[in-house]
Amino acid sequence: MGVARQIEDCERLAERKGWRVVEQYVDDDVSAWSGRKRPQYARSLEDLEAGAIDGLLVYDLDRLHRQPSELESFIELCARLRLTNVASVSGDIDLTTSDGQFQARILGAVAKKESDDKSRRIRRKHEEIAAGGKVSGGGNRPYGYEADKLSVRPAEAAVVAECAKRLLAGEPVRSIARDLNERGVTTSTGGRWSPTSLTRMLKSARISGQRAHHGEIVATAEWPGIISVEDGAAIRALLANPERRTNQAVRRYLLPGILVCSHCGERLVARPRSGGQRRYACARGPGFSGCGKTYINADQVEQFVKEATLYRLDSKELKRSQERRQRDAPDAQRWLAEMEAAQAQLDELAAAYGQRQFSLQEWMAARKPIEQRMTAARKQLAKVSRTNVLGEYVGNSAKLRAEWNALDLSQQHAIVATVFDKVVVGPARRGYNRFDESRLTAVPRP
Ligand SMILES: [Zn+2]
Repeated sequence: MGVARQIEDCERLAERKGWRVVEQYVDDDVSAWSGRKRPQYARSLEDLEAGAIDGLLVYDLDRLHRQPSELESFIELCARLRLTNVASVSGDIDLTTSDGQFQARILGAVAKKESDDKSRRIRRKHEEIAAGGKVSGGGNRPYGYEADKLSVRPAEAAVVAECAKRLLAGEPVRSIARDLNERGVTTSTGGRWSPTSLTRMLKSARISGQRAHHGEIVATAEWPGIISVEDGAAIRALLANPERRTNQAVRRYLLPGILVCSHCGERLVARPRSGGQRRYACARGPGFSGCGKTYINADQVEQFVKEATLYRLDSKELKRSQERRQRDAPDAQRWLAEMEAAQAQLDELAAAYGQRQFSLQEWMAARKPIEQRMTAARKQLAKVSRTNVLGEYVGNSAKLRAEWNALDLSQQHAIVATVFDKVVVGPARRGYNRFDESRLTAVPRP
C-alpha cells in the first residue's frame, strides 16, 4: 500500500479523534523488518520524549517495531511518559495497560512471523533460480561474457584464461593486475584492475561455467565456462586464505570450521541440497579433501550446538578455562606491532619488485619468512580475541539466550568457536529420519 494512502488514513483518523496533527514521520521504503535504520521513527521517539508531541498515530502498530526488544522499549517509554494517546488505523491499543501491552506483543509476534515467512519465500525463489544454474539479474556485465551473460566474448575470455594460468603457475594476483593495467586491458566497465577485482573475477564460479549462490557453488550454469571446473576449484583453493574466509561479512552458516567428519576428520562445509535446504557436508572432489560420506541438516545441528553452547557457558569448567585464558593471554599490542612491521616489510618488497629490482622467484622467496611471522602473530592475536569474545556471557547463558538473535552470524560463530574446539559428526543411522543427537560429540576448547 502506498505511503500517501496511509497518511491519508491516518489524517482521517486524527480528524475523527479530534487530534491536531503537528508532525509527520515517514520512513519511506524502509520496512520495519529490513533491519536498516529508520531515522524518522527515531525522531518520533525523541519528540515524544521531549514533549514536542503528546500522542502518536500510526498506520499499523504491528509494523512499527521490528524486534520484540524494540516494542519493549516503546512500551517502557509509553509507561514512563504515561502516554495513552497511541492510536493506529487498525485499532487503538493503550500500551500503558497490561492488556494493551499483551495485545501489542501478540500482534508483533504475528507480524514478525509473516515477515519472516515472506522473506523465506523470496530467498527460496532465489535459491531455485541459482540451483537451476540460471543467470541472475542486475549487476555489471561479467568479464569474459557479453551483456546477455550467456555468450563468451572471445577477446576477454583469452585474458581470463591467461590470468588463470599465470595465477596457477604461482604469480601473485597483484602482479597480474599490474601487468593487465600496463597493457591497457580494462575491466568490463572500462576500469583498471585492482587485486580485489581480479581476485573476485578469478574466484568466481562463473568463469568455470558454474553457478554460485551466496558464495557456494550450487549447480552447473547455463552459460559455458572459460576455464575448466578443476582449474576453477584449484584457484579458489589457492586464493582461499583461511583468515579472509572467516572474516567474511556475510555468513549464512553458523558452523563452518566447527563441524568435523567422524570418518575422515575433515571439517564439514556448507553444502545446500539442490532444493536449497541448508546442509553441511564432508566435501570431496577438486579443492576438497573430505570423504564425501557425511551430511547433516544445518538447521537442526545449529540449534543443537547453540543449546550446547548456552549450557556450557554456565559450567564450572568453562569458568575455569576462561580464567586461565585471561591469565595467559598474550600481549595484544606486541603482536599487533609485529604484524604491522611484517606488513611494512612486505610492502617494501612489493615496491622493490615493482621497480624490477629482483625476479619474481626472488620476491616469492623473500616473502616467505615474513609471511610466516605474520601467520604466527595472527595466531597469537586470535588467542587474545578468544578471551574477549565471551565477555559477560560467562556464567550467564540467559543473557546470551536473550541477545542471541540480535547478534550477527559472525558474532554467534565466534562465541561457538570459543566454547567448542569442534563438534564431531558421526554417521547417520540408516532409516532414522528424525534428528539424531547421538551423532554429535561436542569437544570443548580446553
Ligand atoms: Zn569425511
